[in-house]
Amino acid sequence: MTICHRQADVDLSLANTLQLPAKAQFLCLPATLKELQACLFQAHREALTVHLLGGGSNVLLPDYLHGLVIHPAMTQWWLEPQGDTLLAHVGAGVNWHSLVMATVEKGLWGIENLALIPGDCGAAPVQNIGAYGVELADVLDSVQVMYLADGQLAWLTADECAFGYRESIFKSELSGQVVITRLVLRLKRQASPRLGYGDLAQRLDEHPSSLEVAKTVCQVRREKLPDPGQLANAGSFFKNPRVSGEQAKALLSAFPHLPAFSQPDGTVKLAAGWLIEQCGLKGARFGAFGVHHRQALVLVHFGGGNRSELVAVAEHIAAEVKVHFGVSLEIEPRLM
Ligand SMILES: Cc1cc2nc3c(=O)[nH]c(=O)nc-3n(C[C@H](O)[C@H](O)[C@H](O)COP(=O)(O)OP(=O)(O)OC[C@H]3O[C@@H](n4cnc5c(N)ncnc54)[C@H](O)[C@@H]3O)c2cc1C
Repeated sequence: MTICHRQADVDLSLANTLQLPAKAQFLCLPATLKELQACLFQAHREALTVHLLGGGSNVLLPDYLHGLVIHPAMTQWWLEPQGDTLLAHVGAGVNWHSLVMATVEKGLWGIENLALIPGDCGAAPVQNIGAYGVELADVLDSVQVMYLADGQLAWLTADECAFGYRESIFKSELSGQVVITRLVLRLKRQASPRLGYGDLAQRLDEHPSSLEVAKTVCQVRREKLPDPGQLANAGSFFKNPRVSGEQAKALLSAFPHLPAFSQPDGTVKLAAGWLIEQCGLKGARFGAFGVHHRQALVLVHFGGGNRSELVAVAEHIAAEVKVHFGVSLEIEPRLM
C-alpha cells in the first residue's frame, strides 16, 4: 500500500513568492498519482482540510494553514506526435518556465509568449495564465484531475474548463474539489509567432524562432517586473477591471489617456496599473509593503509584514481607485 509521507509544522515563508510568514500543519509532496491518492485518503481518515499549493506565486497565505497542504510533485513530461501537432503531456509539478524553455529549445511553437511566468504547470489552468497576447486556453487540449473527495481521476476538455480572463472552472464550480494532475498542450512545429502585443515585433526580426521570441519575452519582463527572488511579490496584484461600454465612454471623456480595450462581449477592459498610478500611488510605501516604483500593478513586500496587513494595503488602494474613477478593483492572487 502506498503511504502518504508528510512533514508536520512546516515553514512556508519561502514557499510563497510574497514571502508572507506562514506555517502548514502538515505538508506532503506526492510524486505519483498513487501517492496523491494516499495523501487524500489519509486526510479523509483524519478529517483534515486539504489545501493545494504549487510554486506559491499567486497565493496570499495566512499565518497558519490547518490541515494538509499538498504540493503536487509529478514532474514527468513527454511529447506525443499527432498529425501536424505534438501533444505535450505534462505533470502538475513541472515548473512552467522550464517547460516553455524546453519546448522552444526543440523549436516548438505555442507557449513561447508565456515564458518566465513563475509557478508550476498544475496551477496554470486555475487562472488561465496569460501574457503578451496569449493565454493557456489557446494551446490547452485537456486537463487530468483527481477528485479530493474520492481520489477518482477524470479528464476535462479545454471547453469544459470554462476559461476566461484569469478565470476557469477551477475557480468556480470545481474550486476546492479537484487537484489538477496533468495537462495536455497542443504545440506546433510550424512557425506561428504572435508579436502583436507590447513591443515584441520591434525587438525581433521578421521571422524569429520560438526560442528568440521566448528570450525576448524574458528580456521585456525582466525590464518591467521585479524579480520575486530579489523583491518579494506575486506579480499583478489586481485584475484589470472590466466596465460597461457606457461607463468606459464616460471615463474616457473625463480621462482621455485612460488605456481601454474593447472586449468581444461589449465590456471594456481598463488597465488597473494606470488607474493606481493616476491616484499617485506608484512607488508608495505602506509599512512592510509598497506599490512597485516601475509597475503600479505589483505590490511588493519589503519584509516583516503579514497577510492581514497586505490585504489592508490592497483595500486602501482599491478604495482610492473607487473614489477617483468609480471602478472596483479585484485582487488577483488567491486567498488560501
Ligand atoms: C513575478 C510574477 C509574474 C507573474 N506574471 C504572470 C503573468 O504574466 N500572467 C499570469 O497569468 N500570471 C502571472 N503571475 C501569477 C502566477 O505566476 C500564476 O498564476 C501561476 O500559474 C501560479 O502558479 P503557482 O504554481 O505558483 O500556483 P500557486 O500560487 O501555488 O497556486 C495558485 C492557485 O492554484 C491552486 N493550485 C495550485 N496547484 C494546483 C493544482 N495542481 N490543482 C488545482 N489547484 C492548484 C492553489 O490552491 C491556488 O488557489 C505572476 C506571478 C509573479 C510572482
